[in-house]
Amino acid sequence: MNITTAISDEQIKEALSKVFNKNHIVTSQNNLKKLVDKELGKNKKQKSGVSPSRLRNIAISCDFIKLEIHSREGDPDKIMTKCPVCGGILRNVKNLTIWGGEVTIEFSCKNCGYWTGKKKRIPTRYVFHLKKK
Ligand SMILES: [Zn+2]
Repeated sequence: MNITTAISDEQIKEALSKVFNKNHIVTSQNNLKKLVDKELGKNKKQKSGVSPSRLRNIAISCDFIKLEIHSREGDPDKIMTKCPVCGGILRNVKNLTIWGGEVTIEFSCKNCGYWTGKKKRIPTRYVFHLKKK
């Protein structure tokens, strides 16, 4: 067992709010981790053991952060049930076009805003924005 205290979600949220007080945009997950680590390191001697995916999920849950997902096209035959961004449940959204009668099927995640069409979008980069109030 590690004796150093684990960093709580609340501490990470606090660090995130400090980061976004200074930066209105953070252009990658790596940069965000560096900035959060810096904020956490200022007050505590503990090393941030925050994994990028945990940090991303906490950022998604912060109402002052807007997540922008960059992606590339993936395999259309791939069956996706879970959101590749946050692990949330993907909802099936059917769009009926009135005139052509064509049905396009999309999947979207309510939690983080990820969506995909037939060609499954694979997240490649995340950009974090300060949400305007
Ligand atoms: Zn999601």
